[in-house]
Amino acid sequence: MEIRPSITVGNEVCIDQYLCHRSSHCHTKHQCMDLCLMGVFVLVKGDGVYPERSQLCCMCFLCHEFCPVQAITVRWTLRA
Ligand code: SF4
Ligand code: SF4
Repeated sequence: MEIRPSITVGNEVCIDQYLCHRSSHCHTKHQCMDLCLMGVFVLVKGDGVYPERSQLCCMCFLCHEFCPVQAITVRWTLRA
């Protein structure tokens, strides 16, 4: 019998900081933070939004669809 390592399914939320900060009509309002009901995003000193609590993401993709510059990526991750 072949024994295989267990695989853990997780998720990952990333923000392309270059695209985000380049967006003059959005990033200062941080609208993606308000949209996320799971509290994934935090505002770091200055004007940066970061997905600090990525593990709380429920994969609704609202932030991804909302961001006007497509700076947010949400994806499944597999770890052996
Ligand atoms: S919606 Fe997009 S551009 Fe606006 S703060 Fe969020 S990641 Fe940055
Ligand atoms: S996909 Fe949904 S839950 Fe995940 S970070 Fe975006 S808005 Fe929040």
